[in-house]
Amino acid sequence: MSSNAAPAPVTAAPPSVPSALLALYVHVPFCQTRCTYCAFNTYAGMAARIPPYVSALLSEIRLVGSAGGHPPASTLYFGGGTPSQLPAEFVRQIIRACAQSFALDPSAEISFEANPGDADGAYFRALRQAGVNRLSIGMQSAHERELRLFARRHNFDDVRATVQLARQASLPSVNLDLIYGIPGQSMGSWQRSLEAALTLAPDHLSLYSLSIEEGTPLHVRLLSGRMAAPDPDLAADMVEWAAERLSAAGLRQYEISNWAAPGHACQHNVHVWRNEPYLGFGAGAHGCAARVRYENVTSPDDYIARISAQQGTHLFPLSAATATAAALRTAEEMADTMILGLRLTEEGIDPAAFLARFGRELWDVYGSALDRLLAHGLIECSASGAVRLTRRGHLLGNHVFSEFV
Ligand code: SF4
Repeated sequence: MSSNAAPAPVTAAPPSVPSALLALYVHVPFCQTRCTYCAFNTYAGMAARIPPYVSALLSEIRLVGSAGGHPPASTLYFGGGTPSQLPAEFVRQIIRACAQSFALDPSAEISFEANPGDADGAYFRALRQAGVNRLSIGMQSAHERELRLFARRHNFDDVRATVQLARQASLPSVNLDLIYGIPGQSMGSWQRSLEAALTLAPDHLSLYSLSIEEGTPLHVRLLSGRMAAPDPDLAADMVEWAAERLSAAGLRQYEISNWAAPGHACQHNVHVWRNEPYLGFGAGAHGCAARVRYENVTSPDDYIARISAQQGTHLFPLSAATATAAALRTAEEMADTMILGLRLTEEGIDPAAFLARFGRELWDVYGSALDRLLAHGLIECSASGAVRLTRRGHLLGNHVFSEFV
C-alpha cells in the first residue's frame, strides 16, 4: 500500500479478541557511533536532529492518540538506537504525551535502553522521576577484545558503574543484554562474561546469538576472510550452558532469549509475543493494531519532514509518517500468534485462548504441523494443554516457526 493510504477495509472481521490494551514503542534512531554488527535503523553524527525529532515524536503520539475509541496503553518501551542520547527532559515530555494520549497508567512498565557509561546519576534520577522503571543496558560482553571487535565504546567497568547508578536512582528493574556466538569467542570467555554479568545481580538477562547481517562491517570482514564465521554448534552449547547456569542463579527462562527474576519479565515484550496490539512511533518504527500492520519511513529527516507537513486526519493507527500499511488477514494473524507465542517458552500457546481469539480450534487449524513437531520432539503439551517448545525446540526455533509461515 502506498504512503498514507488507508488500509483496505476488513469486511468480514473474524471473532478476534486480543487484549484491550496497547503497548507503545518509541524509536530513538541516534547513536554516538555505530557498532560493527548493527543492522538496526540507527544513525551516528545526527545529534543536532534530536530536538526536531522529539517535536515530531510528540506530534505523532498526539495525532495517533487523538483518534477516538482506541484502548488505553499498558506499557511503553524506548528502544533504538540509543535512547540514552535523549536529554532527560525530552524523555519526560514523551512519557507525558503518551500518558495524556493513551491513558498510560502511572504505574505502567516504562522500559528504557541505555548505553553503558553514557549517563550519570542525575540522568537516571531524572528518568526515574519521569516514570521510567526498567533500564536495559547493552553490556554485550565483559571482554575488551570482543567489545573492540564490535566497536563498542564501553568496557565492563562502565557496565558495573551504570548498574550501580541505576540502583542508586531506585530504578526497580535492570536488564543486561549479552551476545554469544562471537567470532573467536571460546566457551570459557562466554562463561566469564555471563559470570561477570551475574556479579551485578541483574533482574533480567537477554542473551542473543550474534547474527552477522549483510551490509554490516562485520559481514564485510567475514567475506574478506579476515574473520572466521562463528561455530553454530559452539553457540548452541553456550546457550545450553547459560540456561543451566541462570536456572541455578534463580532466573527463569520465559522466552527463547530472555531470563528474569520473579516479577521481572518484560511486560512490553510479553505483550508483543502474545501478538497483542502495539503502536510504534518514530523513524522506522512499526506497529500492528486495529488489524493493520504498518511501518514508518526510516530516515529521521523524512520522518521529521512528513510529520511537520502533516495535513488532515489519518485513520488510526496510521500517521503522516506511515510508509507502508496493510490490513491483516486472519491467516497471517493466526500464523503470527503461533510464531510469536511459541517464543514464550513457559507459556506457549493456550488452545482455549486461540479458540476465543479466532473462533477455531488450534488443532483443527494446525494439527498436521503440530503432529510433525511433536513427533520430532520439538514441541510438547504442558499439563494445562498449552503447546510449547521443548528444550530441543528452543535450539531449533526457526525450524519450528517455518511450519507456520
Ligand atoms: S548502540 Fe545499539 S543501536 Fe547503536 S549502533 Fe550499537 S548496536 Fe546499533
